Amino acid sequence: MADSFYGEVLADHNLHPLHRERIDAANFVCKGLNPTCGDDIELQLKIDDGVITDGSFTGIGCAISQASADIMLELIIGKSVDEARRLKELFMKMIAGEIADDELDELEEAGALQSISKMPARVKCATLSWKTMEKLLDDALQ
Ligand code: ZN
Repeated sequence: MADSFYGEVLADHNLHPLHRERIDAANFVCKGLNPTCGDDIELQLKIDDGVITDGSFTGIGCAISQASADIMLELIIGKSVDEARRLKELFMKMIAGEIADDELDELEEAGALQSISKMPARVKCATLSWKTMEKLLDDALQ
């Protein structure tokens, strides 16, 4: 049951992505590349007074990298930069197989990618957008 729900979440974000577009309002962009799979994305965020008020992504890649980017944006839009960084840390903990149940709840649909922790070859696909987001935030706040 759980596996099919997670599969549905991923399929839904691939077929009907909410944030796969380019928003003109973005004031920060960052590219992310995962050469081992060929995932190549560009993340666009609009950040106002330390809050991520809008975001989108473009590019190509496998189903996992694309779904992960869409799910991440759904989660971080409306959050503060600090909160987005904390969610990124939780996501990395989940992928490392070290997350607690209450922490997993905070990741909402991103929890659909928990099984990646058992698929080492796909870890870079799932974490690409999150690492790109962290790099963007690091650059943005310099
Ligand atoms: Zn990939």
